[in-house]
Amino acid sequence: TATVRPDDASATALSTTELAAVRADFPLLERTVRGGKPLVYLDSAATSQKPQVVLDAEVDFYEQRNAAVHRGAHQLAEEATEAFEQARAAVAAFVGADEAEIVWQPGATAAINVVAYAFSNATLGRGGDAAERFRLAPGDEIVVTEAEHHANLVPWQELCARTGAVLRWIPVSDDGRLDLTNLDALVTERTRVLAFGHVSNVTGAVAPVATLVAAARRVGALTVLDACQSVPNMPVDLHELGVDFAAFSGHKMLGPTGVGALYGRRELLEAMPPTVTGGSMVEVVTMESTTYAPPPQRFEAGTQMVAQAVGMGCAAQYLDELGMEGVARHETELAAEMLKIADIPGVRVIGPLGADGAGEEISRLAVVSFVVDGVHAHDVGQVLDDKGIAVRVGHHCAQPLHRRFGVAATARASASVYTTVEEVVAFREALAGVRAFFG
Ligand code: PLP
Repeated sequence: TATVRPDDASATALSTTELAAVRADFPLLERTVRGGKPLVYLDSAATSQKPQVVLDAEVDFYEQRNAAVHRGAHQLAEEATEAFEQARAAVAAFVGADEAEIVWQPGATAAINVVAYAFSNATLGRGGDAAERFRLAPGDEIVVTEAEHHANLVPWQELCARTGAVLRWIPVSDDGRLDLTNLDALVTERTRVLAFGHVSNVTGAVAPVATLVAAARRVGALTVLDACQSVPNMPVDLHELGVDFAAFSGHKMLGPTGVGALYGRRELLEAMPPTVTGGSMVEVVTMESTTYAPPPQRFEAGTQMVAQAVGMGCAAQYLDELGMEGVARHETELAAEMLKIADIPGVRVIGPLGADGAGEEISRLAVVSFVVDGVHAHDVGQVLDDKGIAVRVGHHCAQPLHRRFGVAATARASASVYTTVEEVVAFREALAGVRAFFG
């Protein structure tokens, strides 16, 4: 779990030399945009750039090992299977999980849907009493938060629509943190699932995981952690966090698109009904019925995204070698630099302005969403883009959170391991000129 505090002098960020070496690993960062301007890529929360080793790992797989995994009797199939399973082991080790607890999925969205569908699919599990945990009755409640990415909201809304369960949510306070004032009234004996994001993709706020997990445990509810924004940017140990399920995407953690991971505690995955059925996830199939393979294969029906999984495993190793404590410290420094935009007249930051709390050791990462008085977010984005600075504009798949702050759209700057303070300074300077530009 997080062990770096912003004020912890013993924790070191990436040194200038390390950062230069990191940047040299990312071929795309060398390119220019908009007529020869150096690219300042501040959109890593949407998707990160990829180091050469990850690109090489995918190419190497196709050039040297490409074969269908798990089934073949030939050497290539063996090597492909080994690469695929080693990648699973690398991802598992990176997030403090066991290999059998990591299920490949096309992304975090798919992973969350697998869990949400399991609850309305309990007959498929044939898992006996254990599968009862995935049976919902009208009146049961699912609790989420107002800060969720749509990926961790819409599947739960749909689950409620299918089952008659009721959706409730933890509100967000004015400072952009979860308002836990009424937590005990929200998470009750009726709660079956508490699903929440580890780090907001809008405000960068880190959720108080321990408090939320304790609340869910008190009432026997399962926890589902959307770890999309935490896994790439800070140390995450899922066993230590004690969540029941977690989801994260390869493409946000320096890996390829088309691959992500679902983590589930072993005994829960063993009890969980599959949602996608077909080849590769079965044990015995007769014309009448089927028995399923144990997890993780039970949740990996059909041909998997093997090359991408290999790339994601490589990305996990790359980050691990870099050291996630240093990465988190780097993020914290960049967050502080980004937040200085709050001093620019007319700029309003949505979410916490500092590393204040919520009891978490790391309480805020370098994801900063903001509005500029009198200038539409899209125009802000365009002025920055003209200077080679790439930010995201819109609602960032979090419409309820934007509505909470009375805005339809924000511009968002976000960092990754390769982002420099100089880039953030260039962003601040460009932003300072935006209002003047629109006169
Ligand atoms: N959750 C959060 C917090 C995210 O930032 C994202 C990506 O935008 C997702 C979920 C969905 O991830 P993906 O689109 O890779 O499935």
